[in-house]
Amino acid sequence: MQRKSVGKAWIVVPILSLVAGVVAALLLKDMLPMPHTALGSEAQTVTLVPSTPSAQPISTPTATATPSATPSPTATQVPPTPTSTATFTPTPTSTPIILPAPELHGPPQKPAVISRAEWGSVDTTEGYIPHTLDRITVHHDGSEFYSGAAARMRSLQSWSRRVRGWVDIPYHFLIDREGYVYEGRPLEFAGDTATEYDPTGHALITVMGNYNIQEINQAQLASVVDLASWLCHEYSIPPQMIQGHRDYAATSCPGANLYPYFANGYIANAVQERLRFEEQ
Ligand SMILES: [Zn+2]
Repeated sequence: MQRKSVGKAWIVVPILSLVAGVVAALLLKDMLPMPHTALGSEAQTVTLVPSTPSAQPISTPTATATPSATPSPTATQVPPTPTSTATFTPTPTSTPIILPAPELHGPPQKPAVISRAEWGSVDTTEGYIPHTLDRITVHHDGSEFYSGAAARMRSLQSWSRRVRGWVDIPYHFLIDREGYVYEGRPLEFAGDTATEYDPTGHALITVMGNYNIQEINQAQLASVVDLASWLCHEYSIPPQMIQGHRDYAATSCPGANLYPYFANGYIANAVQERLRFEEQ
């Protein structure tokens, strides 16, 4: 009798320990931000249940806005493809978003930005490397996201320092699901990456979420265009130099549902449109 119960314990105890270990690992993983830079690609190991549905309606453009806002790429406006992306065929999984036609009253203005102080940054002054901007590179952060951007900023900053050993958030601007822009690393300092390209000279814009899984929405796309237009004007960056992370490194970033807007010239054209005041 005694030998029998001892035998059971030998089996039950290790199984319970294993189960407890797996549960603890899953809980811990959910608490950590998982930017794609941590993973090297956007592979997701945990499927998060969205706290709010992603069904943010995209407003239907008016008939008058359609013709002028529809991009028609020309040879000179298609962004260059520095790495092996030549075979990529832009195939957005949903109907392409049409942005309202811009009002060309003057140079693009800097969009409203939620400052580091506003989202609760822990600031530092040492360890940054100055750089001169000559291009814009767009990312997604690779972890499914729906709401709670300020907390995500604080978490990303903490993770960047604690886990990666970076001085700060690797990106300069981050865009939430509503299109609000958050101030990341100060723009005058080079960003960081865990992939094989040098981000020196790159203004790094990141859309919060995983756009291999989620759909980009109109508010987010409009913010990318507004921000890129201002950067191009302010730093004399040609719109052709707005690209996606995957144009420089082996990654799916900024995701299958966002990258086509860069690959097919949509973003470059929309920005070009907003810089046209300079030609008038
Ligand atoms: Zn990226």
